Amino acid sequence: MPRTATPLPLSTVPRVADRDRRRTSASVILRSVLEHGPVARSTIARLTGLSPASVTDYCALFAERGLIREAAAPRQARGVGRPHVPLDLDDRRHVVGGVHVAVPYTTVALLDLRGRVVARRELAHDPADPVRVLTRAADALAELLASAPGSRALGIGCAAGGWVDHEAGTIVDHPLLGWRDVPVREVLQERTGLPVHVDGHARALVNAERLFGRARGSRSVLHLFAGNVVDAAFATHDEVHHGPRSQAGAIAHLPLPGGGEPCGCGRRGCLQAELSERTLCRRARAAGVTDGVNPVHVVRAAAAGDPVAVRLLVERARMTGRAVALLLDVLNPETVVVTEIGSIHREDCLEALRAAVGAGRAASVLPTSFPDAVLAVAGGAVALDALYRDPLAVSPDLN
Ligand SMILES: [Zn+2]
Repeated sequence: MPRTATPLPLSTVPRVADRDRRRTSASVILRSVLEHGPVARSTIARLTGLSPASVTDYCALFAERGLIREAAAPRQARGVGRPHVPLDLDDRRHVVGGVHVAVPYTTVALLDLRGRVVARRELAHDPADPVRVLTRAADALAELLASAPGSRALGIGCAAGGWVDHEAGTIVDHPLLGWRDVPVREVLQERTGLPVHVDGHARALVNAERLFGRARGSRSVLHLFAGNVVDAAFATHDEVHHGPRSQAGAIAHLPLPGGGEPCGCGRRGCLQAELSERTLCRRARAAGVTDGVNPVHVVRAAAAGDPVAVRLLVERARMTGRAVALLLDVLNPETVVVTEIGSIHREDCLEALRAAVGAGRAASVLPTSFPDAVLAVAGGAVALDALYRDPLAVSPDLN
């Protein structure tokens, strides 16, 4: 039966437009305090193109909600009046919680409004029971919050590899964890009573790079995450591409030129099979470099001068560069950020990666901005992205 669309009552149209305009104004003002603070209201008005009166109104709302505060006034401005007192983020009152589910363990963390990790913990887990993994993460977050008195959580972000449906708040399919259709948002929300935002970790880290990292101000950013899971995310301006059911960025089975590693899908040389930290560790074990499954041990062996460990890491970085080159051809981003353990820790790996990308494009390839805290940042970044997109919806009205 054909459906007849019910027309929107005319009076709601301007209201919807108003709401969108309000959200956009609030977002650009808070972003400009994040990026330029301490900053004068008049400078915010100039940077955002909004009227000084409007900037003053939003800033008053943000101050009431504990998101921003007046910074110490510069000496020469004293006595000239409040509009000259610069504003800065208030990073003392609110935090967000972050949960990142990796294959071997879960990371929980608290992040301040500048995306800095203020507390974190790693939890060993048994992925066979997803609900238990998530409830333990929720309880560990509650403990971190209890040990940070005065900090109030605005919400929780959860990030994981694999196919994560941002809108539905579910992990649809994570083959390495063996998770299918896990209702992450529902479980975490019920346990904590806080709003929960869920996304794939490559997308979460693109947002972290845009908001707090080296990709700030870049018009288009590609992020390649090469851990046990290998996936990618792409943002133009401030929008990360999700696609229908958030399936964008699944690159695990793209064929990588020069790759020969057997993949679970039956083919050889798939990107994830080639670049996975599992493969690195298996090769390291076969070569007698380590006896474990932790890639950090390979990095340590290389730092201690083991030439085989160095060769394995440089080779993996080179293959990661080939993967970047493939994606560059398709997406042509201004900036590429790569999270890969070798190029985080070793200059020779970063050089090999950039050489494989090609001289013309190598300068746009950067290692992650969060070398010591990638996973701790990833979870919280999902919640912080929600805050900076819609500050008045995400922060509590304290009145
Ligand atoms: Zn495959």
